[in-house]
Amino acid sequence: MTTPKANKILVLGGGGFIGSHLTQRLLEGGYEVTVVDLFDGKISEYIGDPKLKFLRHDIRARDWGMEELVKWSDLVIDLVAYANPGLYVKIPLEVFRLNFTENLHIAETCVKQNRRLIQFSTCEVYGRTVASIPAAGLKDPEDPKHATFSEDSSEFILGAVNKHRWIYSCAKQLLERVLHAYGLEQGFNYSIIRPFNFIGPKIDFLASEQDGIPRVFSFFMDALIHSQPLKLVNGGVNRRCYTYIEDAVECTYRIVENPGGACDRQIFNIGSPENEVSIRQLAELMREIYRRKYLKPGQALSEIEVVSGEEFYGEGYEDSDRRIPDITKARKLLGWEPKWKLGDLVEASMDYQMECHLNQRLVTQQTGG
Ligand code: UDP
Repeated sequence: MTTPKANKILVLGGGGFIGSHLTQRLLEGGYEVTVVDLFDGKISEYIGDPKLKFLRHDIRARDWGMEELVKWSDLVIDLVAYANPGLYVKIPLEVFRLNFTENLHIAETCVKQNRRLIQFSTCEVYGRTVASIPAAGLKDPEDPKHATFSEDSSEFILGAVNKHRWIYSCAKQLLERVLHAYGLEQGFNYSIIRPFNFIGPKIDFLASEQDGIPRVFSFFMDALIHSQPLKLVNGGVNRRCYTYIEDAVECTYRIVENPGGACDRQIFNIGSPENEVSIRQLAELMREIYRRKYLKPGQALSEIEVVSGEEFYGEGYEDSDRRIPDITKARKLLGWEPKWKLGDLVEASMDYQMECHLNQRLVTQQTGG
């Protein structure tokens, strides 16, 4: 049986970084979109489009009308999350409540109303690599195969409970398992997305301009602009695969379209396996781009400073050492291929942040995405 095309889409947490780009793409595709978020700063340019409705709600409140909106929609996309590592250490309970309890409430409303759900999860569910465990005694710990994660076969390796950074990973993992169980026992139709370090215009905010804890790209931008040191947590040895938001949204859009029901009850990694970089290399790359494009005469170029994880984030911090997405499934089922290379996507993201900074345009902090 083919799944009918969705026309009306409810995007919860759609005012954030990912949601704003996705909303734009959905509107371009002719969908009718309702976005629920606390903030509309990142989607303000689309407000006024007759196909877009923005509703300001805190999804944690009771009786804000979720049930009716889910009933109205053909498809629900859930982007509501606290997804910044600084928060996992600082407010772990709230991270659990939002990322599990509240997300479960959304999922169970979809189950009840029989609506398809696209749930944004995280590559953090995979945790650390087997190569990060010295006792594993791997012959070649550098072999990328030890860090390449596949949706339906990789093991999950997380740290101890007192390393409470992992509460985010656990919350998302449990949510995924519950969705799977609803699919199994009640035929619930969901698709899960595990993003691998999306980056691009509108990500986060500069810490010096707003309260909060952004991700590494914004910390480094802030430091470069203000000639402060770029702080490398634990020497910046850990690695990430950065994925440009345009590539990520294209893959998500294909999951929305769900050709022939190919995405029904499937989990998808979305990431750029070719864009692996250590955080130290990222710092060096950003310094170089900044020096070439933005350094003002007489302005000092930021130096690099090594700090410990506990010093930077506080007690309970532990890190993912390396994560490379296996994207065979997205390639095969959706014909998707990421196009953006690391140097270009970092430069494009920096250009946007610099433009905002120079025009004194604040990129408002969001809960979503
Ligand atoms: N990090 C860093 N300096 C900073 C902020 C983060 O070295 O100013 C490191 C952090 O310890 C992690 C990596 O950068 O190893 C990526 O962190 P981010 O907050 O961007 O999110 P993650 O990829 O861990 O979800």
